Amino acid sequence: MAKLLITGGAGFIGSHTCVLLLEAGHQLVVFDDFRNSSPEALKRVEELSGRRLELVAGDLRDPGSLGRVFGSGPYASGGGIDAVIHFAGLKAVGESVAQPLLYWDVNVGGTRLLLEAMAAAGCRTLVFSSSATLYGYPAQVPIPETAPIQPINPYGHSKAAAEQLLADLAASEPGWRIARLRYFNPVGAHPSGRLGEDPQGLPNNLFPFLTQVAVGRRSELQVFGSDWPTPDGTGVRDYIHVMDLAEGHRAALELLLAEEPQLLTLNLGSGQGHSVLELVKAFELASAKAVPYRLVGRRPGDAAITVADPSLALERLGWRTQRSLADICRDGWAWQAANPQGYRG
Ligand code: NAD
Ligand code: UDP
Repeated sequence: MAKLLITGGAGFIGSHTCVLLLEAGHQLVVFDDFRNSSPEALKRVEELSGRRLELVAGDLRDPGSLGRVFGSGPYASGGGIDAVIHFAGLKAVGESVAQPLLYWDVNVGGTRLLLEAMAAAGCRTLVFSSSATLYGYPAQVPIPETAPIQPINPYGHSKAAAEQLLADLAASEPGWRIARLRYFNPVGAHPSGRLGEDPQGLPNNLFPFLTQVAVGRRSELQVFGSDWPTPDGTGVRDYIHVMDLAEGHRAALELLLAEEPQLLTLNLGSGQGHSVLELVKAFELASAKAVPYRLVGRRPGDAAITVADPSLALERLGWRTQRSLADICRDGWAWQAANPQGYRG
């Protein structure tokens, strides 16, 4: 069993992954400044797994805080970190357009500082949260990992830069074991209804908006575009259950720890595309709630269809998604119905 640092472990994907890693017997140190999450999520992670984790609260950009994790300073966690899963980062496209300096600072600068702390401590194993947003407007779908990297907003630029930094580092000295995992559209929730996505303010993404309409927090969903070149005219995405995604992280980590040093780059998606209206219908069925929606104009920067070619993840990790769109909707609704105001309720 390994001692793992989970940056951003209180967030949506991090908290679900922590449950699986604790259940697998790993020892966890979570590092988070809770700017987009709640300590309550970590309490629930402990409750669900029946295990304790260690928390170091701090900002990635503060070397002193990271130093505490890697074993220096008065409140040091004791060091001895075998590997890191780096979820901490900012992810809102619109905010990145308004605040590019912040996005470069946290997503690129914060990643650089983490890598420096890891190198200084002799820890060279990292799983990194990347994104399908790197592919921009894809020329072909399903999208293989070899597709051109052509992000179209500052969030995507910051993820592309962090990916490049990791490639440069891996090339600079042997010994680094790095997985760059490009997520498609993570949605759903832990099947217990105790953990889920809890966006602050108006949700940017479709799924949490949909669940908030269903629970009565918002009056209607706006569907961005009904004239896309897709079967029903609405945008098509590859929705992946967050528990499938969590299992992908565990598999990637186990591979890195078992194999020779390497740089691994994998899409994590289902390979299946669903339109906005298909998702709305599936959600209505799972929740027995009507979801009022209105067709409006396209959102700038959206692609018509984004679907993963996940065959490399199957080949390298033996991993594929196990959960359906119906499972996603059932679990997402269980979370939202039991926690209408998220963790703050
Ligand atoms: P999230 O916002 O729920 O989780 C991120 C966590 O990082 C939060 O707990 C936040 O408080 C923490 N954090 C942010 N900046 C920090 C800093 N400077 N110092 C310390 N902690 C900090 O997001 P998520 O959906 O769980 O995403 C996790 C990662 O996956 C992110 O890097 C994101 O860019 C990436 N990703 C997410 C999606 C998605 O749709 N959710 C898709 C592709 C990639
Ligand atoms: N979408 C929508 N209404 C919303 C949010 C999103 O119709 O309130 C659409 C969006 O145009 C895209 C799909 O839902 O076709 C998924 O968008 P999301 O923001 O969740 O993820 P993205 O793929 O853009 O990262």
